[in-house]
This record gives sequence, C-alpha cells and structure tokens, in this order.
Amino acid sequence: MKYDVLLIGSGGREHAMAWKLAQSPLMGNFYCAPGNAGIAEIAECSEIDITDHSAIIEFCETKKIDFVIIGPEAPLVAGIIDDLDTAGINAFGPTAGAAMLEGSKAFTHEICDLYNIPAARYARFNNAPKAKAYIRQSELPLVIKADGLAAGKGVVIAFSLADALEAVDACFEGEFGDAGNQVVIEEYLVGEELSLFAICDGQVASLVGTAQDHKQVYDGDKGPNTGGMGAYSPASVAGQETIDEIMGNIIVPTLAGMHARGTPFKGILFAGLMLCEDGPKLIEYNVRFGDPECQVLMMRLQSDLLELMLTASDGSLLEHEIEWSRYSALGVVLATKGYPGSYANGTVIAGKLDYGDAGNVKIFHAGTRYEGVNLVANGGRVLNVCAKGPSVGEAQQLAYQAISKIDWPQGFCRKDIGWREVQRENG
Ligand code: AMP
Repeated sequence: MKYDVLLIGSGGREHAMAWKLAQSPLMGNFYCAPGNAGIAEIAECSEIDITDHSAIIEFCETKKIDFVIIGPEAPLVAGIIDDLDTAGINAFGPTAGAAMLEGSKAFTHEICDLYNIPAARYARFNNAPKAKAYIRQSELPLVIKADGLAAGKGVVIAFSLADALEAVDACFEGEFGDAGNQVVIEEYLVGEELSLFAICDGQVASLVGTAQDHKQVYDGDKGPNTGGMGAYSPASVAGQETIDEIMGNIIVPTLAGMHARGTPFKGILFAGLMLCEDGPKLIEYNVRFGDPECQVLMMRLQSDLLELMLTASDGSLLEHEIEWSRYSALGVVLATKGYPGSYANGTVIAGKLDYGDAGNVKIFHAGTRYEGVNLVANGGRVLNVCAKGPSVGEAQQLAYQAISKIDWPQGFCRKDIGWREVQRENG
C-alpha cells in the first residue's frame, strides 16, 4: 500500500524529514504545510494556517490523506493529534495529554518525582512574592524557568540575586505570555549537555540516537542563545553504558508513567540531559525532533522513516529494527546577519546548493522562498549545511567546504561547530 502523507512544519527539521520520508517506497502523494523552498522540491506545499486545526482536517479530507506527521511542538501541545484522531485521520505524534512533557516543566518534574527519574531539585510557584522568598533563602546559581512553551526563551540561569529576582518578574509580568503563569526554579546542574532521541509507540521506546548542539550565536559558545547554530551525531561523550543508563532510568520509566496515567506517549521523545558527576539527569523533554539535531540524525538514518513512524503510530515498534550509518554527521546553520536579533528578509542566495541524494553532503532549507527565479532568505536561520564522514572531524571539513561554495554575503555561520567532539577525536 502507498500512503498519501501530509507533513506539518516549515523549518530545516521538516526539510530533513521530508527528504527522508520521500525516499520511502510506501510514499504516495506527499504534501507539506506550509513548507519552504527546499521542501517544495520534494512535496506539494500548501499555505494552510497550521494553528487552524479544522483547516488541516479539511485539507486531509479533500486530499484523502492517509497519514499526518507533525514537525514542531506547538501544534502537538495544542492537541492537533487529538483533533485528527477525532476526525478519523491517522497521525504520528503525541496527544495533548502526552505532549505535556514539553508543554509544562512542572508536569515533567511531577512525572520524575513519581517514577524516581533523576532530574534537578526544583520548586514551583504561581506568584512572584513566594518565588522571590524561596530564591532569597536558596543558594545561587539558580535556574528560573517559565513553566509553559516559550519558544526556547523562557529559561534564565541566574548567578546573582538581582538576575534571579528579575527573571521571576519577567515571568509574572507576562514576558512569556501564559507560559509564565507558573515559574519553576531549579538547582543548577553542572556537567556536559547531551540530547538523546527515542521513537516511542506508547509502550516501547527505540533509541534513535544522540546529538549535541551549539545554542550560542558566536564561536566558542559565546553570545546570546539561538534556536541552535549547528549539531552533530553521535556524541561520543555518551558511550553505550551511559545510553543504557538513560534509556533504563529516564526514558523507559517516563514511558511507563505516561502509559499508567492514561496518556501513552507516541512520537519522538527528545531528552535534554546533563551528564553530571553522579550520573545523567533530565533537564527537559521535548516531544518532537530538535532543529538542527534532526538534520544530522536524518543524515545517519538508513531505515525507512515513514515505515518507522507508521509502526510507532500503530503500536508495533518492537517488531522493527532501526538501522543507522556508522558514519558521523555534522550540520552548520547559515543564518541572516543580525540573527538572533533583528534581520532583513529577501536577500539573494546563490552558489552551489544541490548535492543530490547519494553523496555525503546535503543542504537543507530552513527559512527560504523563491522570488521569481531567485532563492531568497526568509527567516533568521536559513540553511543547514550537513555532511557525514567516518569521523565528526571529516564531516566538519566537508560541511565547511560546501559552505565556501555558497554565495550569500548577508549570511553568516559559526566556524567551530563540533569543536568539542573534534578535540576529543584528536585526543
Ligand atoms: P531548557 O529550555 O529547559 O532546555 O533550558 C535551556 C538551557 O538552559 C539548557 O539547554 C541548559 O543549557 C540550561 N539549563 C536548563 N536547566 C538547567 C539546570 N537545571 N542546570 C543547568 N543548566 C540548565
């Protein structure tokens, strides 16, 4: 059977997923909403408003869509899977109840408490005076988090009392909208960060892979945080023993807990972890692939992504073996100058962008569109230049060679993506 598929999203993550999905022999007609210029070469893009669930359902009914795949978190937290299910449309991703793992940091802490999952010590408050009183009697640094979805901006690491108090005010004064109605204050964890991805069918979790990303905008991991300036996979800091520990002590009990409370988790579970001296601890869950981590994971995936997602959504993951390339992959984000602050859209991107599907280099589009025959920038993060090789160092070289062939004076990238891993490889 062939499946007519609708993919929701428009970033580099969705281009990488679309690229992999399109390789499946199970793929029938392939649509994406809203998509971008890169995705448009693989799937038919449609300008549906993805916050309008009834418009998505209407599209699915008109096009007789068999399977919907959701890229970003916001539609999942808003219950798109529940609404599609009610309309009788098969889809991949967690229900709103299961997406609470990303939608509320306090909820995730409750699950961790209930199932003895290692995480930072924390307290939660729904008003500023109590939060501030707690801060005054706690040791610094502290991590102050808006409880809900804040597009990656709701976290402040406070090294001074003034910063901590200011972060609490920012939350309750509405800087993060409803996401800041509740604040979570965490112990500051020390260690190296790691991302681990698992695909889940409600009862079973299969490891997808590990990755590390670079959140800060400038070389040397300096400057303000961004959505992510680059990533690589796998991360050698997590050997098999660490991966087993994370799967056994964190992922599996989370899945069991979500099943027990009647909100089984189906979809991609992305654990943000700190590798602390006393073992890995959970920092946060996301309920979908990361961007730019997805791009490097897709470079390494050899199994059929569509088949894998269909299997997870019908609860039979156990029977499915996932195959990965032994190669490492690394991706560098090209962003418009000014990002993560203000920047201008519409600048022309030229040079070599197409490497076909067979080689070790692939350029995924994030914020792009066509203006006539010109490809133009249409966002902060614009392209993801990805490469794979026998080591992260070799993948890094290939990626930067490909970047040197792109002609876009208004763009910039970090020059040191993967530095920590390359240093490790070089001993
Ligand atoms: P989050 O949105 O929860 O992933 O937080 C964003 C970033 O803040 C993480 O990637 C970490 O670098 C940092 N962070 C969050 N929580 C903690 C914590 N408890 N201790 C140390 N760093 C943290």
